[in-house]
Amino acid sequence: MTTQSHAILNIAFLSKRGKPYLHSYAFLGAVIPDIPIFIFFAVETFIFQTSQRDMWGSRYFMEAWQNFFDVFNAVPLILILLGIGYYLMHSERVTVVAWSMLIHCAFDFLTHHDDGHHHLFPLSDFIFASPISYWDNNHHAGIFRVVECVGILAVSIYLFPRLKTRLGRGVLVFINVLFVASFFLPF
Ligand SMILES: [Zn+2]
Repeated sequence: MTTQSHAILNIAFLSKRGKPYLHSYAFLGAVIPDIPIFIFFAVETFIFQTSQRDMWGSRYFMEAWQNFFDVFNAVPLILILLGIGYYLMHSERVTVVAWSMLIHCAFDFLTHHDDGHHHLFPLSDFIFASPISYWDNNHHAGIFRVVECVGILAVSIYLFPRLKTRLGRGVLVFINVLFVASFFLPF
């Protein structure tokens, strides 16, 4: 799923009344699994000057890049982080980051067809091929995007009053407007 959808969903899921400071930790956990993809995109674009086609068609699947993505999407490693945060550090913040990463992995599990991550890295190279892809029209992305947009709108209405900063509320509205507009704009 797109990073902004992950962020909105995870913050809503992990939001607790009277603890608005947890929102930034839920946000952190929602984006960490996608950070290596942005690094991949930047390195391939600006350093290697790879074309978009090669980037997503072949470079993405190189073992070195895959391992780099997998480290940040590996359920066993995130469970270790959760255990350390909960049992050793007694840190609500670290626990929320780990839970948010797990929720990200769960949504990715359901929305990647042939570009999923090795969920159990480094223990196994099993990858679940979901019948639904969040971006590939050959795997119901057209319908999924409508469901995603309606879901994000609904979750945002719930989340809006819980956000305590103008910046947070502004970004939330901005993402929703862009999402709805993306159905009507030609790009
Ligand atoms: Zn992801």
